[in-house]
Amino acid sequence: MAKKTLIIGAGGVGNVVAFKCAMNSDTFGKITLASRTKSKCDAIAKNIEEKIGVSIKTAKVNADKTKKIIKLIEETKADIVINVALPYQDLTIMDACIVTKTLYLDTANYEHPDTAKFEYKEQWARDEAFKDAGIMGLLGSGFDPGATNVFCAYAQKHYFDEIHTIDILDCNAGDHGYPFATNFNPEINLREVSAKGRYWEEGKWIETEPMEIMQVWDYPEVGEKDSYLLYHEEMESLVKHIKGLKRIRFFMTFGQSYLTHMKCLENVGMLGIKEVEHKGMKIVPIEFLATLLPDPASLGPRTKGKTNIGIVAEGIKDGEKRKIYIYQVKDHEECYAEVMSQGVSYTTGVPAMIGAKLMLEGIWSGKGVFNMEQFDPDPFMELMNTQGLPWQVKELEI
Ligand code: NDP
Repeated sequence: MAKKTLIIGAGGVGNVVAFKCAMNSDTFGKITLASRTKSKCDAIAKNIEEKIGVSIKTAKVNADKTKKIIKLIEETKADIVINVALPYQDLTIMDACIVTKTLYLDTANYEHPDTAKFEYKEQWARDEAFKDAGIMGLLGSGFDPGATNVFCAYAQKHYFDEIHTIDILDCNAGDHGYPFATNFNPEINLREVSAKGRYWEEGKWIETEPMEIMQVWDYPEVGEKDSYLLYHEEMESLVKHIKGLKRIRFFMTFGQSYLTHMKCLENVGMLGIKEVEHKGMKIVPIEFLATLLPDPASLGPRTKGKTNIGIVAEGIKDGEKRKIYIYQVKDHEECYAEVMSQGVSYTTGVPAMIGAKLMLEGIWSGKGVFNMEQFDPDPFMELMNTQGLPWQVKELEI
C-alpha cells in the first residue's frame, strides 16, 4: 500500500524535507506539510508544484498540543512523522506517535523552553513506550547530529578496530551579506552558541567558558578557518556507542562579525531566555531578537559560498595508528537552484529525508528509540551520494 508522510514544521529545513520527499514520492507517497502558520506550508507546496510538478497537502497544527497532533496523524493516516519544527515540540510529537503507533524522526534533541540545555534524557526515556507501541523513533537525523553520527559509524565499520579520538568539524563559509543573521532558527542557534562549551575525555565531561577554545582547522575546498569548541548533542550518544573512544570534541566556525554582534547582544541582555517586563508587556529578549533578525528561510537567494561538515577520527587498524577525515562539501547556490534553500537547511533536510526513506523501506528498522550510529551506515552513506550530499574520505598523516 502507498505510504503517507506527515512533515511538521515549515521553516528552512521543512522546505528542504518537503522538496526532497516530493522528489522521492515513490517512497513517501501522499505528503502533508503541517505547521503553525499554514500560509508558509502553502507557499512551499506552491513552489514544489511549480518546480517539480508534485502536489502535496498542507495543514495547520499547533505541535505543542499532543491531542492536535494525534488528530492530524489520524486524519492524514500518516505512516511516519518527520519532525522539523523546533526542539521544544519533540516530546509532544513523540507522544502523539506513541498513541497512534506511527514512526517518528527528528533532527534536534529536546530542549526545554525555560532552560538553555539540550539532552537526550527525556527522549531516551520514551524507549520503552516506543517498544510497547511496536514503533521506531530515529533521533537527530540532520547533518550534525545526523550525518556526522553516520560518518562515525562508517569510520568504525570500515577504517578502525578502535577509534580513540573524534573531532566533529562544522564549517559554514557561506556569506549572506547581512552583518548578522543565523542560518537556522535564531533562538535555537544563539542558545546553542552562547552556552558553555563542553567536550568529553577519558569518561568525563569537561566544561569550558563559551568560545574559550579556538583552533584553526583546514577545511578541504574552503581553507583554514577559526573554529570554536562548542557542546553539541551528538557527542552524548556517540560516547555511548563508539568502541574505545577516549576523547570527542565539536568545533564550529564563526566569522568575526558574527562573534562581535553576539557578544554585544549578550552583554546588553538580548540573549536572555527569561521574561522581562517592557511597558507593561512581558517579553522574552531572545524571542524578540528572533523577530528582528532575518528569517533563515529567506537567506537562500542571497547566500554564496560552501559548507564543509565532517569528522576527523584517529585510532588503530590492524595494530597500526590511523587518522581519517570524512567530510561533505556543499555549495549554497547549488542548494538554492535545486530546492530554493540555503546550504544549512539543505544539509539538514536531506539527511532527514534519507533517514525517513530508510525507515519507510524497512532498511533501518527496530522497536524503540535510536540514534543514527546504531544502524548500518552503508545504506545511508550510499543515499547521501545519490541525493545531493556526496562525501569524501581522506587519509591524514599522524
Ligand atoms: P525555522 O525556525 O526556520 O522553522 C521552524 C518551523 O517550525 C516554523 O515553520 C515554525 O512555525 C514551526 N513551529 C514552531 N513551533 C511550532 C508549533 N508549536 N507547532 C507547529 N509548528 C511550529 O527552523 P529551521 O527550519 O531552521 O530548523 C528546524 C529544526 O531543525 C530545528 O529543530 C533545528 O534545531 C533543527 N536543525 C538541525 C540541524 C542538524 O544538523 N541536525 C541543523 C539545523 C537545524 P512558524 O512559521 O509559525 O514560526
